[in-house]
Amino acid sequence: MRVADMVLMVYNTLGRKKEKFVPLRDGEVRMYVCGPTVYDYVHIGNARAFVVADVVRRYLEYKGFKVKLVSNVTDIDDKTIRRANETGVSVQQLSEFFTEAYLEDMAKLNLKRPDVMPRATKHVPEMIEAVETLVEKGYAYQVDGDVYFDVSKFKGYGKLSGNRTEALQMGARIEVDPRKRNPADFVLWKSWKPGEPGWYSPWGKGRPGWHIECSTMAVKYLGETFDIHMGGKDLIFPHHENEIAQAEAATGKPFARYWLHNEWLTVEGDKMSKSLGNFVTVRDALKMCQPEVLRFFLISAHYRSPIDFNKENLRVAEGNLRRLLNAFERLEGLPERKVRCGDEEKLVSEVREAKQRFKEAMDDDFNTPAAISAAFSVAKAINSYVESNAEVESSAKQEVAETFRRFLDVFGVQLKPAEHGVDQAGLVKELVDLIVDLRQEMRERRDWKTADRIRDELRKLGITIEDTAEGTRWKIRRPN
Ligand code: AMP
Ligand code: ZN
Repeated sequence: MRVADMVLMVYNTLGRKKEKFVPLRDGEVRMYVCGPTVYDYVHIGNARAFVVADVVRRYLEYKGFKVKLVSNVTDIDDKTIRRANETGVSVQQLSEFFTEAYLEDMAKLNLKRPDVMPRATKHVPEMIEAVETLVEKGYAYQVDGDVYFDVSKFKGYGKLSGNRTEALQMGARIEVDPRKRNPADFVLWKSWKPGEPGWYSPWGKGRPGWHIECSTMAVKYLGETFDIHMGGKDLIFPHHENEIAQAEAATGKPFARYWLHNEWLTVEGDKMSKSLGNFVTVRDALKMCQPEVLRFFLISAHYRSPIDFNKENLRVAEGNLRRLLNAFERLEGLPERKVRCGDEEKLVSEVREAKQRFKEAMDDDFNTPAAISAAFSVAKAINSYVESNAEVESSAKQEVAETFRRFLDVFGVQLKPAEHGVDQAGLVKELVDLIVDLRQEMRERRDWKTADRIRDELRKLGITIEDTAEGTRWKIRRPN
């Protein structure tokens, strides 16, 4: 397999600069992406992290690398336990339900399936072994059934985030657990508490900490040292810092070599998050637009720049994607002929130039907006060709179409010519809004019977409506 000649530069959080990307094994890339904590539906901020990783994977494949991508599912942690207890289901039932929902959402967004998708609860014996190694090597200590990592023993602690242990000690003035040797020590194993699932270990019944889950599964499936580790920038500290400490202390070898972190998806400038309550699930967003549009919107900014979610930005993404796909369709629709003319030479040379710019953009730390602009150059070249030609020579058509198709494949937006003209989700929204408005008119005319019938019929279709002081609201029911 031939890896394209141009050099890929990536911004490595470890070192905070752009570096030439050279994988450990020739022609092969091994990468780990921190997956979701499955206690609820994923929101589009989470989706940004996963889509960015998928585009990185796709571009590495475009360059000819064979990629192995491992992305976990955190199916046991404080949040899953709390949510399961609140809703009266087992942690397993809860996490299975939301794992399925996550997979469905990612499939809609056209993410390639990770090669391995390990679930934390299926790897507890390996995690216990990893903690045992750290205890044996003197990096970890036990207090009352909990096991902590002693950050003062690991010299490289802080190298990813820049948070040095001295600063952490001084900063941690409040609520320092007196059982810890250093305020920054973090938990590797948590002792069992009533109402929690537990596994038997040398320190008694308990469960693994979140950080040891990821580093153990990464090492298991990718080896002690591998190429790329990804996640949103909130994971830099403490999650990724702690993963490095655990893995490198245990193996004595470097853990991941390139650390890539995406910026926030924001809402009016604030990070989209569960805690701020400003989140939109992928499911809800897909009521506003087609999955290709959401995906195209998510990659329309560079992954290290924030991107603001609002209707206007979605509409811009939709218009842009439609323009690209229209150009492709116009080319596809042209009848073919055998002889080449000057216009085709011009078309092909413009497209080759755009391909060069596409590669330069993506080689520059996965600059998707610049790569999208190269795709627009192809669209423009096609449109101007089609203006003055009713036919196209076969090999030119093939080359242009293939280049374009490969760009779109890296972006992960599929070509579905017959469908993209109609925004199905948008249409549903408009139709339901219309029915709800008509029902409101009936209520104003005191035609309660018809209004109630509309409400009941909508309910049968899975659409619930609620009359409030501010007007009527409706939503599509989530599956039980
Ligand atoms: P979680 O399920 O909370 O562990 O998050 C899954 C992934 O989504 C992590 O890589 C987070 O860093 C990332 N993430 C969470 N919120 C956002 C956001 N608003 N913008 C971008 N990435 C996010
Ligand atoms: Zn992780």
